[in-house]
Parts: sequence; C-alpha cells; structure tokens
Amino acid sequence: MADCVFCQIIAGKIPARLLYQDDEVIAFPDINPAAPIHLLIVTKRHIPSLAHLSEDETPLVGHMIKIANQLAREEGIADSGYRLVINTGKDGGQVVPHLHMHLLGSRRLADEMG
Ligand code: 5GP
Ligand code: ZN
Repeated sequence: MADCVFCQIIAGKIPARLLYQDDEVIAFPDINPAAPIHLLIVTKRHIPSLAHLSEDETPLVGHMIKIANQLAREEGIADSGYRLVINTGKDGGQVVPHLHMHLLGSRRLADEMG
C-alpha cells in the first residue's frame, strides 16, 4: 500500500529505528510515545486491522505477542510490567490502518482501559 505509513517504513522509505525484524513482523519505537517505552510491533503484510484478520492469520497475533514479550525482556520491563494494545477501527482509536500492537511500559499506566 503506497500511501500507508507502516508499509513505507517496511519498504525503508520512511526511516525508523528497527528493533526486531523477521518474515512476519517488524518492531520500532512509536514516534509519539505515550510512555517511556512505547514500541510498535507491526505485521509485514498490509492487514488493515484485527477485524480484517482471516482465520488462517490468527497465529500471527500469537507471534506478535511472543515478539512483544521478547522486546519487553530486552527493554528491561518484563518484571515491572507492561501493556499490549491493539486499537481496532474508529471507535477503538485506530489511526494507522495497518495491523500493529503497542508495547507500553516503564511507568505505572493509568487504570482505565482506554
Ligand atoms: P494507532 O492509534 O493506529 O493504534 O497507533 C498508531 C501509532 O503509530 C501512533 O501511536 C503514532 O504515534 C504512530 N506513528 C504514526 N506515524 C508514525 C511514523 O511515521 N513512525 C513511527 N515510528 N510511528 C508512527
Ligand atoms: Zn500498510
């Protein structure tokens, strides 16, 4: 998707500090962090949202969680705790229509769900 910001990062057309990459996902810091550690785990395929995930693609979300857990350990927040968020659609607060998971941590996050 030529006009998708995350597709452009994956294609190397927009710079990002890559923290992890494999055939399925890529991870980099959020440009506008909402917590001291705020990373994005992004699918390499342009899937518009969780609502567009096919049944065959559901294991991809488990893989995203595995990589988020690994990054949390690398960032030193596995013990202090962290939050994984996938905003989905308009009411879910999704701004970039390309499936991604937020990894937030390194401060006590608010109790509310959103
Ligand atoms: P959403 O609200 O769709 O779940 O989250 C999109 C996130 O992408 C936002 O937190 C926003 O700061 C981040 N973002 C948007 N554009 C860029 C960019 O060009 N580079 C990086 N690293 N993050 C971005
Ligand atoms: Zn995309």
